[in-house]
Amino acid sequence: MIKTATFLISNTDHEKCPAPNKPEFAFIGRSNVGKSSLINMLTNNKKLAKISGTPGKTQLINHFDIDGKWYMVDLPGYGFAKVSKSLKADWDKMIKSYLTSRENLVAVFVLIDSRLDPQNPDLEFLTWCGKNGVPVVIIFTKADKQSKTKTHASVDKFLNASEAIFQEAPLYFITSAETADGKKDVVSFIEEQVKE
Ligand code: GDP
Repeated sequence: MIKTATFLISNTDHEKCPAPNKPEFAFIGRSNVGKSSLINMLTNNKKLAKISGTPGKTQLINHFDIDGKWYMVDLPGYGFAKVSKSLKADWDKMIKSYLTSRENLVAVFVLIDSRLDPQNPDLEFLTWCGKNGVPVVIIFTKADKQSKTKTHASVDKFLNASEAIFQEAPLYFITSAETADGKKDVVSFIEEQVKE
């Protein structure tokens, strides 16, 4: 269980992020996928992700210290419909250099809305991760919004669509910020990695 989560710093440049002396887990996804809700649920802190959601911080790499043991990183979302080319290029440069250079990065959790058919921005981002050897774990969000049968059908569809991207089936979790389903599984997974 996570006891304390403390906001540390926001950056555009991965080289200015905290010293890479603790294992790090990052969270990313399309806007509205439920990233803030998931971060708040995992950390038992209703306001934590608000910090990264405040104006000026949504486009930054936001570091949090978790229990003095690992770093949680809230990354800016992708797939905005109306973002200019230059903003998209800025995002690409910042996020892609962070993901490929951060030596203590154990995994990036890529959040996918469990209700939707596979979406191109997600598949494109995952393809890039696959090609660049970025360690990905998928989190299907908002599972409470539909029946378990529908969630599993949607998860299967997504895994099929992403089959070509990964050498082997990716690790994934199914969560709900509403019911806290999947919370223990995600936290246990992280804490297992941190122990090693
Ligand atoms: P973000 O833009 O990815 O940070 O998304 P938010 O966490 O702000 O969530 C977007 C919307 O989806 C909000 O209205 C949330 O209340 C809702 N939401 C997020 N996660 C869940 C969930 O697990 N279940 C339900 N029912 N709604 C959720």
